[in-house]
Amino acid sequence: AAGDLGQELGWEVYAVGGFVRDILLGRPNLDLDLVVEGDGILFARKFAEKLGGRVKAHTKFKTAVVILDDGRRVDVATARLEYYEYPAALPTVELSSIKMDLYRRDFTVNALALRINPGRFGQLVDFFGAERDIRNRTIRVLHSLSFVEDPTRILRAIRFERRFDFQIGGQTMRLIKNALNLELFSKLSGTRVMHELQWIMNEEDPLACLMRMEELGIMEAIHPLLKLSRDRVQVLTELVKVHNWYKLLYLEHEITPWKLYVLGMTMGIKRDQIQKITQRLHFTRREEREFLQLRDMIGDALMKLMGWREGRSKLSRLYSILHPIPVEGILFLMARSRKEHIRRNISQYLSRLRYLTIEVNGNDLEEMGIEPGPIYTRILSRLTDAMIDGRATTRKKQLKLAQ
Ligand code: ATP
Repeated sequence: AAGDLGQELGWEVYAVGGFVRDILLGRPNLDLDLVVEGDGILFARKFAEKLGGRVKAHTKFKTAVVILDDGRRVDVATARLEYYEYPAALPTVELSSIKMDLYRRDFTVNALALRINPGRFGQLVDFFGAERDIRNRTIRVLHSLSFVEDPTRILRAIRFERRFDFQIGGQTMRLIKNALNLELFSKLSGTRVMHELQWIMNEEDPLACLMRMEELGIMEAIHPLLKLSRDRVQVLTELVKVHNWYKLLYLEHEITPWKLYVLGMTMGIKRDQIQKITQRLHFTRREEREFLQLRDMIGDALMKLMGWREGRSKLSRLYSILHPIPVEGILFLMARSRKEHIRRNISQYLSRLRYLTIEVNGNDLEEMGIEPGPIYTRILSRLTDAMIDGRATTRKKQLKLAQ
């Protein structure tokens, strides 16, 4: 449909970036990025009209996002060049506007375009040897100033390298080391570092990326306190396992991976030092407060869990220890617990216990003639405990207990 629309408007349209890379790699990718040699925003509007959807446009960048009615997103960019000034330009100049667009990208493997106009549909546009690099499984920058222009590309290089099991090319690796020698990393803003770290934490195997960063001295370049010690690697290994287990539960509540992994990355840092990290990574006030709180809660819960014994301690006690803690913190506790029975019971809590609801509510208590007040919370929480410990199951039994 996009190709046909391009034809109607007289503009060349290309699928670009990760979408094309993943086609060649045979990997699924639903994020379609289009580049239009024309007016990207106008194209996006017409596209949304045709297929049903809405458009968010950034006039400044001449880009737009089409959100189709079925939820899919299509990013549309404008390949800019003197295209407008020379409408009768030769085809070669027309071609060079997509070339310019691709040249601004990070790596050859992301600088591929696929023509989608009818007649030329499926033609690969490869100016920089991307197909060869994909075949050789190599991550390569397009020019030698790439990392100076944008040091976050170093983290992107590592992310793609680990995700696809590629290798960063020789010259590209020299450029990375050079950028590190120039201390480009220490000058990089916390917001940008954190942004890239978050992408890394969303990968299948974030630890592989973090270890590659450590190997290249990037962790310390971000902040000396972030050096990836063996202890941290061990905990992070457990965190990846626990996180994968959690993903397999397919629960509605998805976690925020960085909150989990940053706990592991900063393990062992004392309370009075931790703010150096939250400030370096430019946490917002709220993120910082929540992160510090989470660390405290975890410390507290670890102590309490030491005294919890399966069979002897009540399940409701475990519930009350874990209930106030965000899931990221609970997963961290699970990863940190050496005792098998604690891990098993925490997993029980996450997959079942925390969803328990009691059938009794305030109205029931009022009907029973109990004067409304703080006592309601106490009664209801006792009832919850009774449910958890298996002392009450039906509504009738619960009401009796409440009396
Ligand atoms: P993913 O599969 O992780 O979504 P992607 O290649 O689609 O990978 P995005 O981060 O969505 O990556 O970026 C889309 C495209 O924009 C990339 O393919 C790349 O060409 C370009 N790009 C993104 N970030 C940069 C950057 N820092 N420098 C240059 N080009 C970039």
